[in-house]
Amino acid sequence: MIVVQNLKKKFGTNEVLKDISTTIQEKEVVCVIGPSGSGKSTFLRCLNLLEDVTSGKVVIGDVEVTSPNTNIDHLRQNVGMVFQLFNLFPHLTVLENIMLAPKHIKKTDKQQNEQKAMELLNKVGLAGKRDAYPDQLSGGQQQRVAIARALAMNPRVMLFDEPTSALDPEMVGEVLQVMKDLAHEGITMIVVTHEMGFAREVADRVIFMDGGYIVEEGSPSELFDSPKHERTQAFLSKIL
Ligand code: ADP
Ligand code: MG
Repeated sequence: MIVVQNLKKKFGTNEVLKDISTTIQEKEVVCVIGPSGSGKSTFLRCLNLLEDVTSGKVVIGDVEVTSPNTNIDHLRQNVGMVFQLFNLFPHLTVLENIMLAPKHIKKTDKQQNEQKAMELLNKVGLAGKRDAYPDQLSGGQQQRVAIARALAMNPRVMLFDEPTSALDPEMVGEVLQVMKDLAHEGITMIVVTHEMGFAREVADRVIFMDGGYIVEEGSPSELFDSPKHERTQAFLSKIL
């Protein structure tokens, strides 16, 4: 589903991604962990061209992301992204937030679009909030709407960048539960997270990044119970 070959990304002279190669299968759930500044967000942002890639190749499904003629709208239909801060449009209701992108990009018929939006709101447990505005919702509810909004384009891949980091602790669980449900439905997901319990339970594979490299990757038990690399061990000993 996703092929990344020798991906490098520089900001000026600062090489933030040094040589990233990995392959992600359809329906795989991959968690990316690592210290702050290791390049996790930049990696995700390169996958959907929120950053332009310095060199290397990224292919997602049938879209060669790094080709100069990539159609960004087509790419973004295939790749949903959820950020740390929910970035909902404050002047639109919950339902309108979810219907916006399909309306503009897919030109979906209004009735069909609304029906799909309501299905997604049901899925994230917020059907009753369809006419609320974002500032009337808790952080956890806003993030669940943001997930529904990303799903509205029927993406083939969902990217999550620390989706629970900005939430009050009591709201983390409800968002992780929605993500677990998606994982069980077989959606291909890449999740940057500090939630090691989630990674252990839900991930098919965990990638540890440090200093712009993938230092180590493996199953959750390989990575958490018997990390091979000394940098992985040092990182895990600080957070577990
Ligand atoms: P992480 O998500 O692992 O904390 P990031 O990918 O956000 O790491 O950042 C990796 C490095 O890239 C950091 O040193 C950061 O300062 C730098 N960086 C990220 N975005 C930019 C940018 N837009 N311009 C310049 N430097 C950036
Ligand atoms: Mg980050």
